[in-house]
This record gives sequence, structure tokens and C-alpha cells, in this order.
Amino acid sequence: MKTIRIGDVTITSIVERDGPWRRPVDMFPAYDGEVGAAHLATLEPEMYDAASGRMVITYQTFVVRTPRHVVLVDTCTGEDKGYPPPLDFDKTPWLDNFRKSGLTFEDVTHVFCTHLHFDHTGWNTRLVNGRWVPTFPNAKYIFHKDEYAHWEHAAKAGGVHPGTVWTYNCRPVVEAGQALLVDSAFELDDTFSLTPTPGHTPRHVCVNIRSKGQRAVVTGDMMHHALQCREPEWSTIFCHDRAEAAQSRRSFLSRVCDTPTVILPIHFPGPTAGLIKPHGRNGFDYRYLR
Ligand SMILES: [Zn+2]
Repeated sequence: MKTIRIGDVTITSIVERDGPWRRPVDMFPAYDGEVGAAHLATLEPEMYDAASGRMVITYQTFVVRTPRHVVLVDTCTGEDKGYPPPLDFDKTPWLDNFRKSGLTFEDVTHVFCTHLHFDHTGWNTRLVNGRWVPTFPNAKYIFHKDEYAHWEHAAKAGGVHPGTVWTYNCRPVVEAGQALLVDSAFELDDTFSLTPTPGHTPRHVCVNIRSKGQRAVVTGDMMHHALQCREPEWSTIFCHDRAEAAQSRRSFLSRVCDTPTVILPIHFPGPTAGLIKPHGRNGFDYRYLR
């Protein structure tokens, strides 16, 4: 992704993994093959690999530099977490791309997780001498308190998949005294605030970035693919509450449609950043900023 400038704020991307990933029929329970094929033929070409029939899905972290802070939004899958293939991504690209961004671990002032799934919290911690410790020694990690409580409860009750996420990626941060457990009204500074978009997880939130009359939104997993702009009701197999996720998505897309708000979805492939436009009678279109 090219560097995005929103007034005094800059946003760059650290990619962990990209390329063709899932078939739409496996991702969206409501998928309709005929409707889907028509959409896929007219989406931005980077979004779909027709040869393999798979959607292109990227895993990335956004680096948000405000005048006062360096914030990482969502931290991919990380290293040494023990996830089974194909989720055992090579850790080298993320580390190399982090270095290329000109940062050291010490420079990061805040880490923010839009939700507490394994692919948004991985680099929160690293395994050092057999213990999970915060990767960024000077950072405060911001979690929504109700999202945290949900995953704490689920991990303690057992049976969540992958069950290690809270234990490896979240609890050690709290134990190190580096967590800020916040509610939806939280504002880091006058450029960085939250919008609740529940459904994918119980307290999923998007990040609003505003400066000098410009606005961008990091949309986390409120949508995973541009097909969900065309068909906002197509929630994924990974959504906690598919109906609520669809409602959050449609409401959000309606609010930003035909505005200059820059959209930054975590899983959209490069060039990633885009705008929402109307499509047909009841849908939306995702168009890259090129
Ligand atoms: Zn995700």
C-alpha cells in the first residue's frame, strides 16, 4: 500500500502474507454462485484469482503515525504460536516489512486490536525464554474491555478455536501492566477514535482517523472481501453473529458511501485503501485509490 496521508497523520502497511486464499462458497454461507460470479467479474482485478477460483486475502498491520503517537493497528498472526498449516505463516516477511517501515519495537507507543482473533493479535507477544512477553516494550496495548472479557471467559471455559489466542496474545500484556481496557468512547488523541461495529466478534470496533478535515477508517474484519460491499448480507463463517455483522456492515457502508472517507480493510490486497461507491439498487462498490 502506498503511504496514505490524512491531514497530519500518515498510514502505512506491514504485510505478513498475501495471495489467493479461500473460495467464496467456503467463506460465505449465503453465497449464491450466479450472483457471485457476476460480481467477481467486475470487482477490482486484484481481489480475485480466477485461475484458482480463490479470493485474494492479505494479512497486514497498519502503522498509524499521529503527531504524538506511533500506533500499530492489528498485529497479524505472529511467530511461534503453533498454528496448524496453512495458518503457520512465515514470520520473516512481517519482521522485514516492519524494519523497512523504519521502526524499532521500542518506537511503538500503542498497539490497538480491532478485535481479538488470532490474526489480529499475533505480534502482540513473542516467546522469550519460554514465556510470552509483550513485543513492544514501551507500548500501551488498547483492547475493548468487553471484547477482552468475552475472550477471557471463552478461553477459561475451554473449547475456543484456536484456544491459545487469549492465553498467548492478550493475557501476558495485561499481566505486564501494558494493557488499557477501554470502552467505545475511547479517544487516543484528537485524531484517533473508535466506532462500534459488532457482529464479527461481540465488540468489534473500527478505528476513525481524522485530521484537518480528512478522514480514514481502519475497518478491521467488518468486511473480509469486496464481495461484501456488493452483498452486505454475506457474513463469513467466522462471524460470531452473522445477522449483527451484516447490520453493522450495511449501516457503515451507507454512512461512508460517496464520501471522501478513505477505507482501510485489513484483509484487502494491495493497493488496499479505497472508497465506497453506490452499486445497483441496494449495494456498494469498493474502488481502490490508485
Ligand atoms: Zn481477520
